[in-house]
Amino acid sequence: MLLYQHDNEKTNIGEHNCLFVDFKKIFNDGFVTRNGDVRPPSKYDTACQQYAVIFQCQSQVQFGGVGTVHADYDLAPFVAKSFYKHMRNYFTDVEGLTKEDAEIVLKAKYEPCVIDNDKIKDTPAYKFAMRQLEREGIQASEALYHNLNTLESRAGSQVPFTSINFGRDTSTEGRFVSEKMLRASLSGVGKHHLTPIFPISIFQYKQGCNANPGDPNYDLKQLAIESLSKRIYPNFVNCDYSQAYEDPNNPDTYFATMGCRTMLGYDRHTDSYNRVGRGNLVPNTMILPKLGIEYGVCLGKRETPDLKGFWSAFEDLLMLCEQGLLERFDIMVNQPPEAGPFMYQNGTMKDAQKCCVSNYEALKHGTLAMGYIGIAEMCQALFGKNHAEDPEVHEFALSVVKRINEYAKDASERHDLNFSCYATPAEGLCHTAAKALRKQYGIIPNVTDHEFLTNSHHVPVWHEISIFDKLAVEAPFCKYPTGGCITYVELDSTFVKNTKAIEQIIDYAFKELDIPYLAFNFPIDSCLDCGFQGEFNDACPECGSHNIQQLRRVTGYLTTDYRHFNKGKQSEVEHRVKHSKFS
Ligand SMILES: [Zn+2]
Repeated sequence: MLLYQHDNEKTNIGEHNCLFVDFKKIFNDGFVTRNGDVRPPSKYDTACQQYAVIFQCQSQVQFGGVGTVHADYDLAPFVAKSFYKHMRNYFTDVEGLTKEDAEIVLKAKYEPCVIDNDKIKDTPAYKFAMRQLEREGIQASEALYHNLNTLESRAGSQVPFTSINFGRDTSTEGRFVSEKMLRASLSGVGKHHLTPIFPISIFQYKQGCNANPGDPNYDLKQLAIESLSKRIYPNFVNCDYSQAYEDPNNPDTYFATMGCRTMLGYDRHTDSYNRVGRGNLVPNTMILPKLGIEYGVCLGKRETPDLKGFWSAFEDLLMLCEQGLLERFDIMVNQPPEAGPFMYQNGTMKDAQKCCVSNYEALKHGTLAMGYIGIAEMCQALFGKNHAEDPEVHEFALSVVKRINEYAKDASERHDLNFSCYATPAEGLCHTAAKALRKQYGIIPNVTDHEFLTNSHHVPVWHEISIFDKLAVEAPFCKYPTGGCITYVELDSTFVKNTKAIEQIIDYAFKELDIPYLAFNFPIDSCLDCGFQGEFNDACPECGSHNIQQLRRVTGYLTTDYRHFNKGKQSEVEHRVKHSKFS
C-alpha cells in the first residue's frame, strides 16, 4: 500500500469532506430543508437551536467535519436582539404595558437600547434584562452542547463532527458568547455532567486580544485553560502564526481549524484567505514508510540508504497522489447540485448557488489535500533512527514534507485549483497501512512492529521525550502542511491541573516556536454509575463500579471509550508516553 484514497466509498456519490459553514448568510436569509423553510432567528436561544440544526443538515451532504470560523461573531448579534427583547419584556410583563407602548418607552428613554449603554445600567429594566439574558445564555449554550453531543446524522451512525472556533470578538455580546460556550463545556453533559465529545471547541489565541494580561479577552483565555484542564477542550489555534494571513478587518479570514486539524489556506479563486464557506474536498495520503523500507537500510540489503532511488520514487508517488485527487475532483464536480440540496439551496458553501449543471463554481474554493503518514517509520526504515533522534535525519524528514508543500503549490498552478500539503489524521489508515506493510515485509523493529503507523510528522508516541523537546522537534514541520496539522502534548491527569504550567506551554509553543495548532491529551475516566471523574483503570475509587468510560482523544476527535476503536488506535493509545513525565 503506497497511496490511500480516503472515504473511497463516497466517491460515486460525489460527497466532499468538510466545510466551514457561512452562518452569516444563513442567519440573514433563513434556510430551506426538505420539509419547509425556517425564518432567521430573532434571539440568542433560537440562534443556538438553529446552529445545531444547520450543522446536522450540512453534515448529511458531506462525509467529514462541519464547523464555524467564529461562533462569537456568528451569535453576537442575537445576544443584542435578546437583550432588547428582555428590556421590552420588563415593561410588558412587569409594568403591564402593551408591546407598542413598551417600544415607545424604550425609544423615548432608553436609546440606544444596548448592553453597553452606561446611562441605562442602573435602571430596574436593565437589571431585569441582564438577569434574563444571563439565564437564556446559560440554558441555550448548554442546550447547544447537548444537541451537538447527541444529534444523529448519516442514518444514525454518527454524531455530526462539529467544530466551533471563538475567542476573538471583544464586543460585550461576542465575549458573552465565548464565555457561555466555555461555561457549557465546563458544565458537561447529561446526568453525570460528563465531558462532551462534540462540539470540538477551539480557542483563537491572539496577542493584543486575549493572549496576554491586560488584553481585553485575557479572562477568556484563563477560562479556556480551566475548561481544557477538565474537558480536554478547547484546543488552541495560534492566530499570530506566521502564515495565518489574516485581514484584521475581516473575521472571515481569522485563523481557524476544523477540530481534527484541517485548515483552509489561500484561495486562488478569490485571491484571499477567506475561510468561510470553504472546506477540504478530499485527502489522499502517501504511505511514506513504504518508500523508507524499499530504499532504506532496514531490510539489510544495503549499508547506506539509496536516497537517489527514494527521491525518484517519491516524485512518482506525488504524481500519483495528484492524479488521484484530480479524478476525485472530477467526480464531485460532475454531480448535479440536487445531490446536496441543503448546501446548494442555502449556499452554505461559497458560491453554491451559482451551480447549475456542475458544482465547479463552489468546489473550486475548496482544497485538495496531499496527505502524508509515518515520517517517523520512514526515517527509521531509511536510516535506522527516527527524526527525533538525529539532527541530520530530522533535516531529511523536513525536506520530504517541504517537497510535498512545493509540489502542492505547483499542482495548484497546473490545474488552477487549491492543492494543499496535509498532515493526515489517519483514523483507520494508521492500522490498515501498518498491517499491509507487515504482511509484505515482515516485522521490522519500530517500523512495522506496532499495530499502527505514526501520525504525520509526529514524534512516535512511545518515544520518551520532554514536552519542550517534542514541541521543538515537530515545530519546523508545521510550516509546510498548509492544509492542516496538529501538535499534541500528552500529560498525566495531575499535571493538567496546573493551569499556569499549561499556559506557559501554550505561550511558548505559539510565541517562540510559531506552532499553528496545539492540543493537550490526558486520560479522563468517568464512572457511569456515580459520575466520578479521574484517572483510574478497573474500578471507580468512589463507588467501586466497573461501569467505566475511558475517554481518550484517539484521532482528532474524542472517543467515548477508546476500546471501541480499531486495534491500531487502541494499541497506539496504550503505547503513549506522558511527556509531562520527562519535563
Ligand atoms: Zn462510581
